Amino acid sequence: MGKRYFCDYCDRSFQDNLHNRKKHLNGVQHLRAKKGWFDRFRDAAAVLVEEQNKRPCRKFLQTGQCDFGSNCRFSHLTERDLERLSAQVHEERRSREQQQQQLDGADGPEAGIEEWLERRASRLSAAQSSGALSAKSSVFQYPPGWPPVQELPPSLRAPPPGGWALQSGAQWG
Ligand SMILES: [Zn+2]
Ligand SMILES: [Zn+2]
Repeated sequence: MGKRYFCDYCDRSFQDNLHNRKKHLNGVQHLRAKKGWFDRFRDAAAVLVEEQNKRPCRKFLQTGQCDFGSNCRFSHLTERDLERLSAQVHEERRSREQQQQQLDGADGPEAGIEEWLERRASRLSAAQSSGALSAKSSVFQYPPGWPPVQELPPSLRAPPPGGWALQSGAQWG
């Protein structure tokens, strides 16, 4: 009895020799299983962008069937699917932010300024893309754990609404 090759993607095994292996690894079933496996780890946001850039598969949307299946270069998602997917994107983003906030709570105020900036940027772009940039999110907010504004050196204070007043005739050195 020779060695057996177990394919994780397909969850099946076969006698391991060059011929079988080649045949299996190039088989439609295997390629489909492999693609499906990776698809599970792509996040909804990536899928959404990809699907929105495809044109709808007319055959699939009319008949519910398409020979190309998940390899079709047109989108098999209906408008409702897309809506659901984008709701999922929002959901994932929110739960990721919540996790992040919990982490920050555990790590204390020292937990990286870079993460704070990243979260702020994604919060702003999320608000912008959903067309709901509220007044609140556009107001500057200090990272949690910073001392009160009055105790900050002037260079770290947020500019007043409308920006700093420029003194006419001021010379920059
Ligand atoms: Zn396989
Ligand atoms: Zn199709």
